[in-house]
Amino acid sequence: MGIEETSHELRPLSGDPQPRAIKMAPQTRAQKMKKCFGENLLTMLTVAGVVGGGVLGFTLRASKPIWTPREVMYVQFIGDLFLNMLKGLIIPLLVSSIVAAIGSLDLTLSSKIGFRAITYYVATTTLAVFQGIVLVNVIKPGKNQGSSNITRTGSSRNVTTADTLMDLARNMFPPNLLQAATHQYRTVLSYDPSKNDQVDPILRQDRYNLYSWNIDHEFTEGSNVLGLVVFSVILGIAIGRMGELGKPLLKVFESMSEAMMVITNWVIWMSPVGVLFLVSSKILSMESIGTVISQLGLYFFTVLLGLFCHGFIVIPLIYTVGTRKSPFKFIANMSQAIVTAFGTASSSASLPVSMACLEEKNHCDERVSRFVMPIGATINMDGTALYEAVAALFIAQVRNVEYGFGNIVAVSITATMASIGAAGIPQAGLVTMVMVLDTVGLPAEDVTLIIAVDWLLDRFRTTVNVLGDALGAGLVEHLSKDELDALDALGEPESVKKKASNANHQNEWCNTPM
Ligand code: ASP
Repeated sequence: MGIEETSHELRPLSGDPQPRAIKMAPQTRAQKMKKCFGENLLTMLTVAGVVGGGVLGFTLRASKPIWTPREVMYVQFIGDLFLNMLKGLIIPLLVSSIVAAIGSLDLTLSSKIGFRAITYYVATTTLAVFQGIVLVNVIKPGKNQGSSNITRTGSSRNVTTADTLMDLARNMFPPNLLQAATHQYRTVLSYDPSKNDQVDPILRQDRYNLYSWNIDHEFTEGSNVLGLVVFSVILGIAIGRMGELGKPLLKVFESMSEAMMVITNWVIWMSPVGVLFLVSSKILSMESIGTVISQLGLYFFTVLLGLFCHGFIVIPLIYTVGTRKSPFKFIANMSQAIVTAFGTASSSASLPVSMACLEEKNHCDERVSRFVMPIGATINMDGTALYEAVAALFIAQVRNVEYGFGNIVAVSITATMASIGAAGIPQAGLVTMVMVLDTVGLPAEDVTLIIAVDWLLDRFRTTVNVLGDALGAGLVEHLSKDELDALDALGEPESVKKKASNANHQNEWCNTPM
């Protein structure tokens, strides 16, 4: 029962009179299950890590109501190690992959691939924002809920929309690449009472008059990933145009990118334990979940519904229409990346895992995955865009601020910009939210109304962000297949070698020796 016989008939070799039939060992159902189990062991363990982390967190919380920051730090320690390992890979992987992928393509093909990816990003982000706006206007989670009912937590930044957009543009062109690896540019507004005393008495009454605020510029801690992406794209294009002279440099980046993928294949095995401790420590340090859900439950539900529709209906549908392939297997093959995104709440930290899933399980051409994934992880955040739109309009509803069609259009544009500007790190969307709030005339400090549930929503939106990037890469690869094949047919030695090297390290982590 359950035995399938497979036989492969080989054509006779010259001088070999008889066709030779080779009987492959029959595969029993048990063997098949074992193979399937082996291939998905790590993903199953990682899912168990998330669930186990939840159980552990709530059990520890029940055993002792208040946990000191030191105790939480001990629980988080292993999770931090895992996160650091992934974070350490981000910059070398991102820079080398983009440079190597773009440098190995000719300019026409790389601009076609780039154009397709950007079109997909713009289309899906716009759709995400649109869904968010429709849902928040239908469900109206903030109506009949005064802001005084909601506990404010955390603090906010005091900047304007113009500052946020200009910071985004400044960060695209870092003055110092080494510094960009560790710091990013930021405008800081500080109130200067002495200046206020000098202004016209009528103006003085308005504390927010422009004369009394100093504009300072500072570099704050945190990698300027956007700046590094822009530079890598430019360097890749330059190498592609240099011909023979650029080849040695291209080789360095190719080799570096490959090395980072090898390390990723090792680090990935830390995921189950890493996410277990990340999730459990987060549960230990959170506010009382009951209060939070009673205050913000409907808002939470609206965002979650939107994320689910977008991540599991809209973008898979776009993928299916574009590729005429079923998205289920593709998404199932990305499970490891999806769980990592949920566990780390960071699309940048999940990037190595997403690229490994894409190349080794979905067999995506690495010239596409290494080109579009790092860019997608930096600028394409559908989940964040949807959340920004819902959150801003939710706060407007809570504060009873009327908003018309004009505001809705402005929210759509700023939510899209805010998602592009948000870094792929935990709760970055909250920081860029300020400019979306500004468009409906709300003060920056109103983000404190939604901070309580943000850590949890962040995990869901990061999952959708990562899924959106992966499906986009799959779609772009499909649309570019003919051109890539034509490049291979030209006998481009580099691309042929790349395919071979990909095949060599394929399935290193998804095929567990059993
Ligand atoms: N945590 C998100 C990400 O890394 C960004 C955000 O929405 O806060 O994709």
